[in-house]
Amino acid sequence: MTGSGGIHVTFWGVRGSTPCEGDQYARYGGHSSCVSVECAGEPSVVFDLGTGLTPYGEALGGAGTRFAGTFLLTHLHWDHVQGLPFFTPLHEPRSNVDIFGPRQAEGPLEEVFDGLMRPPYFPVRASQLGATVRWHDVGDDRFAVGDSAKVRSHFVRHVGATVGYRLDWHGVSVAYVSDHGQGCGAAPTDDHVPDEVLELCDGADLVIHDAQHTAPEFEHKRHWGHCTHEYALHVAREAGAKQLALFHHDPSHGDDMIDLMLEATRDLSARTSGPEVIAAAEGLVLDLGGPTHTSARR
Ligand SMILES: [Zn+2]
Ligand SMILES: [Zn+2]
Repeated sequence: MTGSGGIHVTFWGVRGSTPCEGDQYARYGGHSSCVSVECAGEPSVVFDLGTGLTPYGEALGGAGTRFAGTFLLTHLHWDHVQGLPFFTPLHEPRSNVDIFGPRQAEGPLEEVFDGLMRPPYFPVRASQLGATVRWHDVGDDRFAVGDSAKVRSHFVRHVGATVGYRLDWHGVSVAYVSDHGQGCGAAPTDDHVPDEVLELCDGADLVIHDAQHTAPEFEHKRHWGHCTHEYALHVAREAGAKQLALFHHDPSHGDDMIDLMLEATRDLSARTSGPEVIAAAEGLVLDLGGPTHTSARR
């Protein structure tokens, strides 16, 4: 928690598709999608449960630590759920968590997730975790978390049922649209931004957005459900966001490639009166809306 007010955002996993390891990922990191959000005096909120959830659990104190908070899950692809069984505070009976995730055509979220986390794929079922776990199916919804944080969810274009989120807390806002494909669906043009996405990102202090592809890559992968870094900037600029974090980095992109994509996006933003642009990196901490309003790397 921050004792000074504002929202404290920590990137624990920034990679899409699959976790990866090697010297070429040393600066941006190899864990898959997971971002924690701490609002002063509120229970923790976590966007997505990729492998970055494991070091988050260890940072909280590991096994035996009591955890109370909210998980906002965008969808059930492996890179967004694989960390859940390894979040050791959930093996502590005093822990309790609310998991919000997209409504599934196949049935209630809790039942569908049980098909993912069960023998022979994993020895422990979600229902056998020691913690109290409450599941919530969402779509285009509004709901409260903790005492005073407000969350907006919308279905977004991807492969399978997927939502994006916006969290508002005392005038500070974070939008999280981790997987969003500009080539999915029947959009009139590749730069079309759906109203639902604009609403999530509207004037946000920070937009964390899918930026997996370069434009040439996108031409071959438009059906994968992800977008270009230029499109991520287009979304943030159209929505009037203050800061954009390029997110869901492709496993084939090492640190130097992400540097190039960041530099190109910053140049484009400067030429088009866009927002500040950063590339999400494992361990990066952003303090939004507090007295100092600083950004810092761990
Ligand atoms: Zn993903
Ligand atoms: Zn996905």
